Amino acid sequence: MQGDAVRRSAGERRHGHTISHEGPLAVLWDMDGTLVDSEKVWTISLADAARELGGTLSSAARSAIIGSDLPRTLVIMFDDLGLPREPARMAQAEQVILTRTAELFADGLEWRPGAQEALRNVRAAGWPTALVTNTGRALTELALDGIGREHFTVTVCGDEVPRAKPDPDPYLRAAELLGVPASACLAVEDSPTGVLAAERAGAAVLVVPCEIPVPGGPRRVHRDSLVDLTADEVRADYARAIADCAA
Ligand SMILES: [Mg+2]
Repeated sequence: MQGDAVRRSAGERRHGHTISHEGPLAVLWDMDGTLVDSEKVWTISLADAARELGGTLSSAARSAIIGSDLPRTLVIMFDDLGLPREPARMAQAEQVILTRTAELFADGLEWRPGAQEALRNVRAAGWPTALVTNTGRALTELALDGIGREHFTVTVCGDEVPRAKPDPDPYLRAAELLGVPASACLAVEDSPTGVLAAERAGAAVLVVPCEIPVPGGPRRVHRDSLVDLTADEVRADYARAIADCAA
């Protein structure tokens, strides 16, 4: 993981100033919208659930749901549809969403561009890695059947921590399991909710937007996609995130 002279000079040429070449101690991957194109799947199951509730989810509510866990998703959906937050009805809607999403996940998920190769590159470079997702364990296991468990040292799901993203708990838990400080990790995220969680945990964030734009900020670096995300690029992006913060 240590940068050699070639990498150092490449990094300096690319960014035009001296930067840290240490690289992150671990790479923490979001799943939905970052590794796989599952936000489109969620769009289908959310629309089905809204239909069963007698309404149509607005596009604003759909955007607000991106990156959220299921309890928050249901609150946004019921408010959007103008329905009282009645626990029994919300539980019923939750079941519709889970069943429909499981069917669609089991059919197989599409990779986000470059994601599979990026996962392989990071693993081959020897970094400890975590999957850090707001999706529950049961659905995540279905997704992992396609993604491959070999890419991750540990996996943390939204229903395994006290508070899901945008709270920092999932990222803090992943760092704890890996035995590294979250502040020395690089998180890879596609949504404002996920980025917020990673930042609150103290991690640097590689932002690769999917469905909705994500604003810039300290300790954030943006890429258009995961295409050509080599180990050297991971080090360079991490260094840029840290440099941006120090600047
Ligand atoms: Mg996501």
